[in-house]
Amino acid sequence: MDQITVYGAPWCPDCHRSKTFLTEQRIPFSWVDIDADAAGLRFVEELQRGGRTIPTIVFPDGSHLLEPSNAELAEKLGVRLRATRSAYDLLVLGGGPAGLSAALYAAREGMETLVMESGALGGQAGTTDRIDNYPGFPDGISGAELAQRLVAHARRYGVEMLAAAEVARVTREPDCLTVATTTGDGYQASAAIVATGSRYRRLGIPGEAGLIGLGVHYCATCDGPFYRGEREVVVIGGGNSALEESVFLASIVDHVIILTRGDLRASELVQDKVRAHPRITVHTGVDLLAFERKGDRLGAIVTRERATGTETRFEPAAAFVFVGLDPNTAFLAGSVDLDPRGFVITDDRYRTSMDGLFAAGDVRAGSTKQVGSASGEGIASLLSVRKWLEARHDMAPATLDEPAS
Ligand code: NAP
Repeated sequence: MDQITVYGAPWCPDCHRSKTFLTEQRIPFSWVDIDADAAGLRFVEELQRGGRTIPTIVFPDGSHLLEPSNAELAEKLGVRLRATRSAYDLLVLGGGPAGLSAALYAAREGMETLVMESGALGGQAGTTDRIDNYPGFPDGISGAELAQRLVAHARRYGVEMLAAAEVARVTREPDCLTVATTTGDGYQASAAIVATGSRYRRLGIPGEAGLIGLGVHYCATCDGPFYRGEREVVVIGGGNSALEESVFLASIVDHVIILTRGDLRASELVQDKVRAHPRITVHTGVDLLAFERKGDRLGAIVTRERATGTETRFEPAAAFVFVGLDPNTAFLAGSVDLDPRGFVITDDRYRTSMDGLFAAGDVRAGSTKQVGSASGEGIASLLSVRKWLEARHDMAPATLDEPAS
C-alpha cells in the first residue's frame, strides 16, 4: 500500500469530515466503502478484533487511526494547521450554527474573522439525521446539508475557518484577548465569541467506557446504519434527542426499545409519533445498572425497574445513549464564570465575566438548545460585540444593512 486508505461509509459524517480534511490538505487517499465492499468490512473487523469503528484510516507504514479528530490526523500526517494571520478583529470559538451565523454577520460588517473548530464545521447539528423545525425548510433539512450551507454562506463573506483547531485557553490581556490552541498556536483579537456547543453526555455506568463503538453509541446517524436489518436496538433517554433518534433508528432496524428512568419529556408531537410507531416500545421508570460484554462487543444491558425493583437483562444489537448534553467548556474553567453544569453564564447582552468575551448557542447557560435559536444567538451576540467595540472606539458605527465592501 503506497497511499492512505480510508475505510468508511457514505452516510458516516466523520468519514466525510476525514475525507474533506485530506482533500483540503491535498493528500491523496483511496476510499473503501465497507457497505459495498465485503473484503473491506472484513479487514476493518479483523483490525479491530470485531469492532467496526469508522473511519478506519490505514497509513502506508501499516499503522492506523480509528475515528481520529482532524487534529490527530493532522499530527499523524505532519500537517501544520495555522491560520493566515495571528491577529483578527474577532475570533469565533466553535463552528456550529451559532458560531458560523455570528461569523458571517461579522464578515459582512467588514470584521476580519477567524472561526476555530475542534472537529468538523457544522457542529452537533451536522450529525443530526433530520432537522424538522428550522424555519424556512418546510420539508425539513438534513443536519449535514444545513452544516454545508452554513459553511458555504460564511465562506462567501470571506470568513477564515480552521477545522482542527482545539482551544486550550482564553486569556484577557490589557488590549486584547489571546486564544491559545492545544497545538501551541496563539491568536489575538479585540473580542471573541464562545460558541463551542455541547456533546452527548455519557451515562457513567459500569461497562460503558470499554464498549464505546463496540455496541454503545452516541450518534444514531453516524453508527445506526451498522445495525441495518438487526432485530433490536435500545435507546436510552426520554428527551427530544432520544425520541427523535429512535424514529430514525426504527427506519433501519426491526424494533427499537426506549429505556428511560423518568417519564418521557420530549415535545408532545414527538411523543405522539413514538407512541404511535409500530416498531418502537417505551419502558419508563427504568434505572440503567450496567453494560455487559459478550466477547469484544456489547452483550447485555442490565436494568432495574424503579417501581418493583425487578432486574432485567436486555440483549440488543446496540445501545444508543441520549441522556442530555454536557457543554464544551473545559478550556474556560477557572477563567470565566460557569454554572454548576459547566455552561457559560452571560448577561442579556451575551457578555461573559471576561471583558470582550461573549457566548452564544448551546454552550450558554439558559439557551434553548434549538438550532434556530443557536443561529439567532450567534447573530445577537455579534450585534452585542459590535456595540461593545463601538463603545471602545475600535469600530465605526454599525452599517448592518450593507455588505462589507
Ligand atoms: P434532555 O432533554 O435533557 O433529556 C435527557 C434524558 O435523559 C431524560 O429523559 C433524562 O431522564 C435522561 N437522563 C439524564 N441523565 C440520565 C442518567 N444518568 N441515567 C439515565 N437517564 C438519564 O436531553 P436531550 O434529549 O439530549 O435534549 C437536550 C436539549 O436539546 C433539550 O433542551 C431538548 O429540547 C433540545 N433538543 C431539541 C430538539 C428539537 O427541537 N428537535 C432535538 C434534540 C434536542 P430524567 O427525565 O429522569 O432526568
